[in-house]
Amino acid sequence: MTQGPTDAVALAQALIRCPSVTPAEGGALGVLEDVLKPCGFACHRLRMTAPGTADVENFYARLGSTSPHLCFAGHTDVVPAGDERAWTRPPFAAEVAGGVLYGRGAVDMKGAIACFLAAALGYLEADGGLKRGSLSFLITGDEEAVAINGTPKLIDWLRARGETLDACLVGEPTSAQAVGDEIKIGRRGYLNAKLTVHGKQGHSAYAERAVNPIPKLARMIDRISTTPLDSGSKHFQPSSLQATIVSVANTATNVIPGAAQANFNIRYNDLHTRAGIEAWVKARLQAAAEEVGASFSLAFEGSGDVFLTEPGPLVGAMAAAIQAVTGRAPALTTNGGTSDARFLKDLCPVVEAGLVNATAHQVDERVAIADLATLTAVYRRFIDGYFAGGAFPR
Ligand SMILES: [Zn+2]
Repeated sequence: MTQGPTDAVALAQALIRCPSVTPAEGGALGVLEDVLKPCGFACHRLRMTAPGTADVENFYARLGSTSPHLCFAGHTDVVPAGDERAWTRPPFAAEVAGGVLYGRGAVDMKGAIACFLAAALGYLEADGGLKRGSLSFLITGDEEAVAINGTPKLIDWLRARGETLDACLVGEPTSAQAVGDEIKIGRRGYLNAKLTVHGKQGHSAYAERAVNPIPKLARMIDRISTTPLDSGSKHFQPSSLQATIVSVANTATNVIPGAAQANFNIRYNDLHTRAGIEAWVKARLQAAAEEVGASFSLAFEGSGDVFLTEPGPLVGAMAAAIQAVTGRAPALTTNGGTSDARFLKDLCPVVEAGLVNATAHQVDERVAIADLATLTAVYRRFIDGYFAGGAFPR
């Protein structure tokens, strides 16, 4: 009933052989369409544009038109290979050696897309089609870069069409040592702050006529960096504020600069909101500035508010699938960077479960063939449980 390959390894190889480095589509979405269309999925290739950004191709395929609607979300774009000569195997050749599949995207996250595809096809074949509900794929080509023409626009598109999702599985590589040892039930919020301390430029030999912003900035960095935001919550580690860049636009050793800047990256947990974090940073810096006699300005940027899918039917179904296949009870975590789950959580409950992330974005990114089999079995069990157990509450 399908034209393309149907097993996870062959599918992963076909996807890896498409050089879909963000924002290039590279043929990867065509691979998905060739497999899903003959199975009756209504497929949409969606080209999204925005001024000042590269056009991005995205993909949405849905089978069925009723609830419950289970959506698998992911991305076919990959980060660049870097120095290809450093790779043991060519990054887009998808070679298998010693039971291991090599290639950019093997774990992040073409491998997981292949596993879900194989699991879904297996489910449809065993069940003689979809007996109830809907199954869909929401695949973006813009996750690894700015994520402007990817998932946020797909969500707008879904809303405009009146499409509703009941549960979403994101296939990011969440596992640490073995498939299923960790799944993500939320993510910390992400925010950048840029602090500028204003001084007065002058000759360093006549320092009394200038105001040096550098020592003031240094003390303000110290004050805010050594004040804990919190000590963690039930499902989250403590929030973290890290100074990441200190910059002074000055090349002369005998000039006191007029301004000095520092950037901070903040990862915050569910004890805070975006607005609350901004207010906290502002108040701390205000107090520090008064203490050291500094005048400053402050700007914020960054997307991705904190979210949590409270353990419930969706998280329980994934945990049960992992336990049944691997014998392991997954740790429910919220650590690590952001993912497109930060947008999808606005539509329905989201859980993230995928391959081992040890080699993601690295030279010689790779996945054990056995891991592809395990994740396919986990996803299959999850799909079975989802449609057998009925709709999860929205
Ligand atoms: Zn990813």
